[in-house]
Amino acid sequence: MSCTTGSSVNRGERQKSIGVPERCWCGRKVYLLVSKTNENPYRRFYRCQGALQRQTESHLFKWVEVAMAEELEEQKVEIGKAFAELERMGGDCIALGRCLKSQFGSLEARVCQLENDAKLREAEECSNKRKAVFGAYRHLGVAVFVAGGLALVYKAFCG
Ligand SMILES: [Zn+2]
Repeated sequence: MSCTTGSSVNRGERQKSIGVPERCWCGRKVYLLVSKTNENPYRRFYRCQGALQRQTESHLFKWVEVAMAEELEEQKVEIGKAFAELERMGGDCIALGRCLKSQFGSLEARVCQLENDAKLREAEECSNKRKAVFGAYRHLGVAVFVAGGLALVYKAFCG
C-alpha cells in the first residue's frame, strides 16, 4: 500500500518536473502562455494556474525551450537505455545460442552412444543365437559320432 503524504508527493514532483510539465507541484493545471515583458517579448512559457490566481506559494514556471531541451535530453537518455538493453539482449541471445548448441552437441553424442550400445547389444544377441545354433549342431554331431561308434562296435562284436 502506498501511503505518501501530501508534502512528500509535492517535493517529489518538484524534483522531477523535467521536460514539458502537465501539472504544477501544487496539483493545479499548467498553462502555456506568451510573455509580454520587454525582456522576453513573445517568449512562450509554462505557468501554474495557481500563480495566475495570485497564490502566495511558489508555483511552476518554465520557458518552453527549456522544457523542450529537457524533453530532448530525456529522450536521448531513454534511447540510450533502450540501445543498452538491446545490446544486452543481443548478448543474452548469443550466450543462449552457445548454450543450446553445446547442449545439443552433448545430446547428439548421447544419442550416438545409445545407438552404438543398441547395435552392440544386437550384435551380441545375434552371436549368442549363432552360438546356440552351433551348440545344437555340435551336440547333434557328437550324437551322430557316438551312434556311428556304437554301430561300429556293434558290427565288430555281433556282425
Ligand atoms: Zn502551482
